[in-house]
Amino acid sequence: MIQLYIPLNFLGVIYREIKQALTDLDKMFLLLEREREIRDAPDAVELSRAPGSPPPALRFEDVHFAYEPARPGAPGRPVLQGLSFEIPAGHTVAVVGSSGAGKSTLARLLYRFYDVQAGRITLDGSDLRQLTQASLRRAIGIVPQDTVLFNDTVAYNIAYGRPGAPQAEVEAAARAAHIHDFIVGTPAGYATRVGERGLKLSGGEKQRVAIARMLLKDPPIVIFDEATSALDSANERAIQAELRAAARGKTALVIAHRLSTVVEADQILVLEAGRIVERGRHAELLAHGGVYARMWALQAQGGEAAVRD
Ligand code: ATP
Repeated sequence: MIQLYIPLNFLGVIYREIKQALTDLDKMFLLLEREREIRDAPDAVELSRAPGSPPPALRFEDVHFAYEPARPGAPGRPVLQGLSFEIPAGHTVAVVGSSGAGKSTLARLLYRFYDVQAGRITLDGSDLRQLTQASLRRAIGIVPQDTVLFNDTVAYNIAYGRPGAPQAEVEAAARAAHIHDFIVGTPAGYATRVGERGLKLSGGEKQRVAIARMLLKDPPIVIFDEATSALDSANERAIQAELRAAARGKTALVIAHRLSTVVEADQILVLEAGRIVERGRHAELLAHGGVYARMWALQAQGGEAAVRD
């Protein structure tokens, strides 16, 4: 009994961590042979778009959410409490707020790692729960906080965004993400093995691989969950520019752990304890003189930690 319990418990821990990291669950489910928690509705439909049509508009409508409690039967602590916002087709909305406010949870719900407990999330008016998960996830590209690389070649890791993509397209994506020159400088170029058992990449290099993967997939919806670990400022500015370019023409949700990222967003949402307390563009929020303006002033004084915590 004990022997059975420990590995299952261990798998549970791994599974939760994977969910947190927003990595590719389908692959992991195969590996762990675990049942999916979220199932497609029997009448689920494909999220379909005609080629060349605009990306979908995204809406959160009065969304409430709590994670499962640590003990079965205990009440879950509310994480999102009646959240409503819209990202019109092709726009970028950035979410800021202190650590634990619920920012990354928005991304997890959009990717449907979990279902909302009340309210709904829609894409072009269709409730996510009425869509097949496969078609939903095909339509979304994620650049996560911490990219997990497979123990395989760098080419494989980029092409994971679109398996079977021709080498020329893999290289074009790598060039656009400004990682091509680095790759050709490694011992075996695109055939260099990376990951735990291969070449270790820096945080910035891993993020660029994730951006290249996303560019190759070319999904209509993108989620950027900004890295919490600080990159040096030149690297950070370069990556932000690459992310902005990658978001062009897409419906984009930016989870910002630093304010410098959000200045150009079409709309900024300020989240506090699962509620939107302010929303607007950067200049409007500064003029408003509220929570955002205070966060900005703190950051200007170099108080990045204070912004996050
Ligand atoms: P940060 O800026 O530090 O990344 P965040 O605003 O993205 O924070 P979330 O990751 O969305 O915050 O977490 C919101 C709340 O939900 C936090 O209190 C967190 O502890 C809790 N939480 C997150 N994931 C889980 C989970 N899998 N189970 C239980 N509680 C969780």
